[in-house]
Amino acid sequence: MDKLTIVVPAYNEEEVLPDSVRTLLSVEDKLISSQMFDSSSDILIVDDGSTDDTWNIINEENERNKRITGIKFSRNFGHQNALIAGMTEAIKTADIVVTIDADLQDDPNAIEKMTREFLNGSDIVYGVRNDRHTDTWFKRTSAGAFYRILNVLGVHLIRNHADFRLMSKRAVEVLLEYKERNLFIRGMIPLIGFQSSKVYYKRSPRMAGESKYPLRKMLSFAWDGLTSFSIAPVRAILMLGILSSLLGVAAFFYSILTKWFGFTVHGWSSLMISIWVLGGLQMVSLGVIGEYIGKVTTEVKQRPRFTIEKKIGLQYEK
Ligand code: UDP
Ligand code: MG
Repeated sequence: MDKLTIVVPAYNEEEVLPDSVRTLLSVEDKLISSQMFDSSSDILIVDDGSTDDTWNIINEENERNKRITGIKFSRNFGHQNALIAGMTEAIKTADIVVTIDADLQDDPNAIEKMTREFLNGSDIVYGVRNDRHTDTWFKRTSAGAFYRILNVLGVHLIRNHADFRLMSKRAVEVLLEYKERNLFIRGMIPLIGFQSSKVYYKRSPRMAGESKYPLRKMLSFAWDGLTSFSIAPVRAILMLGILSSLLGVAAFFYSILTKWFGFTVHGWSSLMISIWVLGGLQMVSLGVIGEYIGKVTTEVKQRPRFTIEKKIGLQYEK
């Protein structure tokens, strides 16, 4: 029978982790007892360099139940890297991996439906939220705008899908072939191919604790999604450059004409405006190009995506 591993990234989640583990275990027990998965199916919690009691909780849970296992990063490497580490570890023994946030905002009961889709032949099953009522107005509008911008730039994401998904072992193996350091996993998954399907669920508010994605992290994540998946911004700069050169040529002929017909010299306002507008355009352009060069720099360094400090309960270790 297939083995399922539920991968849970956790960064300072002491407040929610014990409850999450209990809920996920009971969901998994149900799947095991209905003969959908092997009894060795487990839960792998990736402690993304937490500074609170998260790692101790993982150890206590492992003592109580050997099906709870854990990885501890040497520092905070971020949600996306935690997911990659968890999946890498999981497929050493598992046939199917489900990733879910530690705060259980994503409905764990949807895992059963995901499993059915897997049994019907899907290698990837996306968890998709059917509404965004639990989000603030700001998060809803900014997320909407983000999807629209990416869409225009030719990056097609699954709308309202984050990182709650099921993947077969072979799908994870393909994902791990994508070696980029600037990770935006939800943009990479559709590139894998294979048969996929969606399972809709209702997303609830966080049970306890605060969001580990403050505005700053959220913006930087969105910016990564944009610039890692599309070179449209650099193309847009090229078009802007061409357009402004054409305007320059037009201005040149215009000034010759005005000279010809003996107009007086124009005021400095037009000069000032063009200096400022063009100067601004140039700075923005340099910034965008710099962003891409920066991305190239981090990619060529090929630094490790994460460093594992400790592991607990992983079978093949013994
Ligand atoms: N997370 C992580 N590393 C980080 C930030 C977040 O592993 O640097 C985890 C966090 O513990 C949670 C998941 O990523 O399991 C999603 O974070 P959160 O729920 O805070 O984000 P939100 O739901 O507010 O977008
Ligand atoms: Mg959350």
